[in-house]
Amino acid sequence: MPGLAHATAPPIDVVRLRDAVRGTILTPGDDGDDAAREVFNAAVDRRPAAIVRAAGADDVAALLALAREAGTGVAVRGGGHSFAGHGVADGAVVLDLRAMAAVEIDPDARVGVARGAATAGQYTAAAGRHGLATGFGDTPEVGVAGITLGGGIGYLSRRHGLTVDHLLDAEVVTPDGAVRTVDAEREPDLFWALRGGGGNAGVVTRLRFRLLPVDRVLGGMLVLPLSAELLAAFVEIATAAPEALTTIARAVPAPPVPFIPPEHHGRPILLVALVHDGDPAEGERAVAPIRALAEPIADLVRPMAYREMFEGPGGPERPAVAMRTAFADALDAEAIVEGVRTAPTPFAAAEVRALGGAIARVPADATAFAHRDAPLMVSIAAMSMDPATADVAALEASVEARAAAAGLAGRPGYVNYLGAAQPTAAAYPPATLARLAAVKRRYDPGNVLRFNHNVAPAA
Ligand SMILES: Cc1cc2nc3c(=O)[nH]c(=O)nc-3n(C[C@H](O)[C@H](O)[C@H](O)COP(=O)(O)OP(=O)(O)OC[C@H]3O[C@@H](n4cnc5c(N)ncnc54)[C@H](O)[C@@H]3O)c2cc1C
Repeated sequence: MPGLAHATAPPIDVVRLRDAVRGTILTPGDDGDDAAREVFNAAVDRRPAAIVRAAGADDVAALLALAREAGTGVAVRGGGHSFAGHGVADGAVVLDLRAMAAVEIDPDARVGVARGAATAGQYTAAAGRHGLATGFGDTPEVGVAGITLGGGIGYLSRRHGLTVDHLLDAEVVTPDGAVRTVDAEREPDLFWALRGGGGNAGVVTRLRFRLLPVDRVLGGMLVLPLSAELLAAFVEIATAAPEALTTIARAVPAPPVPFIPPEHHGRPILLVALVHDGDPAEGERAVAPIRALAEPIADLVRPMAYREMFEGPGGPERPAVAMRTAFADALDAEAIVEGVRTAPTPFAAAEVRALGGAIARVPADATAFAHRDAPLMVSIAAMSMDPATADVAALEASVEARAAAAGLAGRPGYVNYLGAAQPTAAAYPPATLARLAAVKRRYDPGNVLRFNHNVAPAA
């Protein structure tokens, strides 16, 4: 995992910082400092100079102004689920937004608000109580702001589009210390950049979304025995399915969980998580061909409230992870399955998401998420559940080799899934990257917000 560039940040004046902000500040050795610098990816173990737990947008503004003056980089910590570990950086100041986390749902206006580091799970639970939803990803612990800044691909994407397609406006603090409210009319370039540009232009303190009447769905998980033939057939069905059906499929060794019979544990399976948002009978018809691919090892698909998809933990608590992401037109199922079966790392996974539908109906230049026409997204992951013994270099080598074997190396990828070793340029077509660089020059010319999939300010 990277860390080299992070070691060069000039120090900030902590005494002035304490005077400038209302929130608490942790420095190395303080009680709670070690827990506060932890992020989801346990391969990341970085030591910031200070962690600022902002109490409001005014704190964010004060910190950014001081950091800009000092030339110090600020790492923004929301839900902490960046695969590259961007929520913490060596020698930098971490701006921790967790104390500002809040969700407000207005069922009459059908508007949802997420503040600070509010998570997808918190928002989905609150909105779900009114039979409403905004689509995020598949994991409750992920930060709403973090996922939105990259685009937001989840269970409702084929039917309703990306998270960014439902963003009404945002409160953003830019590194000049200004607190701005931006939308399609007010500072449209900044609003464009927030919808996929990955938090390069400012710190988002509040997001307002349109809520959709998504309540009862056909949802859950189907566990199938994995083979290359089955995976290839699944991809054909998933990409041609009615767009009310969104699937997220993972080729993995079966985990030892109660709903999978013990004789399958450790054997390769295809774990298909799905949501059909539409007529229940049509949902059953859409899922039938997937069920028919093989005798399911487990069938947990049932009518449910959409919010139930976000209940319970979203996966392993703090694994060490290496990741590669690619958008693809087709899948080399043979190579994907072979990679999962033979990878030497403790846990090898490949995730396949069928896209299209409402995602593809938005013009590519409407938002900084530009890969609208990709039919598939493939992510290659290697994990170790025991960070203490994790060989991070081996995890990286595994995903590199498996992505290359599947013909995915060097392909464009999703910014929110970029691995530490993938360049930012992989996430954006050249015209999008140039426009992001121009927005960056306008709002963050000193690159204060540099601990992200960084877009350098245009020259
Ligand atoms: C287990 C897991 C499941 C996932 N599932 C999905 C999925 O289904 N769909 C999907 O689209 N993505 C998914 N992701 C990717 C996820 O959306 C990104 O990693 C996202 O950036 C995480 O946001 P965060 O706030 O949790 O993380 P953080 O690490 O806190 O932040 C991630 C990045 O966003 C920046 N950032 C965060 N908050 C702000 C803010 N308020 N203002 C400015 N910059 C900010 C940070 O600086 C950092 O660069 C998943 C990730 C994990 C680990």
